[in-house]
Amino acid sequence: MKIEPKQIKVRDIFDSYADNGDDGVFAYGGRLAIRPPYQREFVYDQAQAEAVIQTVLKNFPLNVMYWVRNGEDQYEVLDGQQRTLSVMQYLKHQFPVTLDGKKFYWDALPDDRFEAIMNYEFMIYVCEGETSEKLEWFRVVNIAGEKLSEQELRNSVYTGTWLSDAKRYFSKRNCAAKRLSDKYITGDPNRQELLEKALKGICELQGKKDITEYMALHKSDADADELWQYFQEVMSWVQRIFPKYYADMKGLDWCHLYNVYHRRTYNSSVMVAETKRLHEDEDVQRPKGIYEYLLCKDTDPFAGRLLNLRAFDKRDKIAAYSRQSGICPICHQHFEFDEMEGDHIKPWSKGGHTTPDNCQMLCRDCNGKKTDKY
Ligand SMILES: [Zn+2]
Repeated sequence: MKIEPKQIKVRDIFDSYADNGDDGVFAYGGRLAIRPPYQREFVYDQAQAEAVIQTVLKNFPLNVMYWVRNGEDQYEVLDGQQRTLSVMQYLKHQFPVTLDGKKFYWDALPDDRFEAIMNYEFMIYVCEGETSEKLEWFRVVNIAGEKLSEQELRNSVYTGTWLSDAKRYFSKRNCAAKRLSDKYITGDPNRQELLEKALKGICELQGKKDITEYMALHKSDADADELWQYFQEVMSWVQRIFPKYYADMKGLDWCHLYNVYHRRTYNSSVMVAETKRLHEDEDVQRPKGIYEYLLCKDTDPFAGRLLNLRAFDKRDKIAAYSRQSGICPICHQHFEFDEMEGDHIKPWSKGGHTTPDNCQMLCRDCNGKKTDKY
């Protein structure tokens, strides 16, 4: 890792400053991305922004900032985004500062004050190095600076053709991935949460160690088509298997469910009927678990746990205990009430419900050994 200190005048950074909204904020003759495309905006309130200008006007030092060198003469602000933006925005007439009780926009400043801003030098550490060491080091820097999420950190390291293309799909407000998945997957594209979820999914499917392994491998790919196709496939699979939509489908880890179950076959008419039946079953206390339950119930005898099935209440258990005179029907031993547990005589999966007549008390041992608990 090479870290080079530089002092750069505000005048030079302000050169060609352009705020293009979602397409990024650039300065320094177009060579510096203050904010890269589709990265969320950090918002300083006006008092914070004004404090930056006051510091500059007094020629006091601002904290060191960090830039990353991404190309021959191309940089991205890693730390210092808000401070840089505050100065740029002041020079773009976006807010005034108060001097001696009066408000001054930049163009009302006395010449010497204006020149003081333009000649102020930012203290910048420009860093470059292997991507792996950069990421590690950025995490450390990030602790002190404006908080970047893990995916934003990865994006600042693995820049290139792949990332630019991936951001087109996953990182823009109202991007294609958001439109496609909004009813099923939560996540703010602007904070890179959708991109992170898609990457996590494809990494699991391909057996990658982590997201950085995937991004390192594909960094220089011409595009991110593989990831985009994967994501579309996940969404299309969900809608094929569960053609009827329920609001509780939103927020499930659909990429993971796809990865685990997409090789199996399911009948969608059966799924529709079963989803409806389970939503109407009062014993199902966790409707969000219905989908995974239906995907795995034929192979997982404990799938019922996903539904958090209603347990017998104390009144039902006391009634059963006295009916049985405290005898466990399996081992025929006598137990105290609190040594026993409520159990469904007819298992829930075979149509038995959590009703008083379907309750029996088993000793803990026998209940633990029971295989058709659900
Ligand atoms: Zn027993």
